[in-house]
Amino acid sequence: MNNLKDDIIFNTINNGILILDDELKIKAWNRWLAVHTHLSVDDVLDKNLCELFPSIDEKRLKRKIKSVLVTNTSSFYSVDPHKYLIKIELSNITNPIYDSMQQDVTIAPYKRDEKLVALYIYDKTVLCETNAKLEKLNKDLRDLSYKDPMTNAYNRRYFYEESAKLLSLASRDQRDSCIIILDIDKFKDINDTYGHDVGDEVIIQLAQLLKNHVRNSDIVARFGGEEFVVFLYNTDLYNATHIAEVMKEDIHKVNIDAGTQTINFTASFGVAKFNKELDENNIEHTISRADKCLYIAKNKGRNLVINESYLGAAIFNKEINTKAISIESNIFMLND
Ligand code: GH3
Ligand code: MG
Ligand code: MG
Repeated sequence: MNNLKDDIIFNTINNGILILDDELKIKAWNRWLAVHTHLSVDDVLDKNLCELFPSIDEKRLKRKIKSVLVTNTSSFYSVDPHKYLIKIELSNITNPIYDSMQQDVTIAPYKRDEKLVALYIYDKTVLCETNAKLEKLNKDLRDLSYKDPMTNAYNRRYFYEESAKLLSLASRDQRDSCIIILDIDKFKDINDTYGHDVGDEVIIQLAQLLKNHVRNSDIVARFGGEEFVVFLYNTDLYNATHIAEVMKEDIHKVNIDAGTQTINFTASFGVAKFNKELDENNIEHTISRADKCLYIAKNKGRNLVINESYLGAAIFNKEINTKAISIESNIFMLND
């Protein structure tokens, strides 16, 4: 390989090039690699590449080299999961996103009779950075169109799009999904007494609390001023009611700074289960039942959780003697 050692093109090209034999012994190492790895030609010559760079999957690389030699064609070599073949560290001053150079690698037959291949290493860090920035911009744009800027909760649009997807998943897996709808009690009084900014703070804190009480697969959406709808995936009515009850209790513990004093607030809840047949695959019907429950909770004095088994009682007027789901005393029983 002495001819390559002094070759101008080999040593001035802005990519890494190394020649390997089928046992992964390094037979040539260009200047780009020497500069970036701080290993000179003499440091690496006739050494096994994988001994110098242990993160390389030796078996896979050998297999790939064999196939390049057999087929006599160049081939892209995937460097997942590290995104590099030869680890070249980047300082976080020059690159805030990646700590190692992101690379593309191609293996080409070099001298088949001597079982030698050439590995070309391209630095694609800048491209990856640009892609990461674009992805972030896209995410920000998506958030703008899907999220309420004040609370960072999802909006109705996202709720309907995403709940439709979750419902079809739930239907395939035969799992229950539930809706909780909630509305702050006497919120107008908070605005009127302490001002709009304190009212805003109440809504923001409520949204945060709701998000803290659900899983990533659930959806918390702000439907109106101080009204939120929660979609609970893979949750039956009993558990959804329990979750609403815990939310109700925890809301009461939130302290809001209203200048000279600290205030608390409460909310009322309606809970309903998505019923595939009854709701004709339309979550709007479930929301409507939950909303009826919320209305009852407001009428019954607020700071309450009512689930749809209560509606059943109202409709059938105790003819069906099903027991209501009662987790704590202030969830109404059917016979209440
Ligand atoms: P109820 O217990 O029956 O729900 O009584 P309420 O006073 O909460 O009644 P209602 O739900 O009708 O009141 C909603 C109020 O919320 C009216 C509106 O001025 C206020 N509001 C709506 N959006 C916002 C907001 O973003 N910030 C603030 N501070 N107030 C809002
Ligand atoms: Mg209200
Ligand atoms: Mg309201």
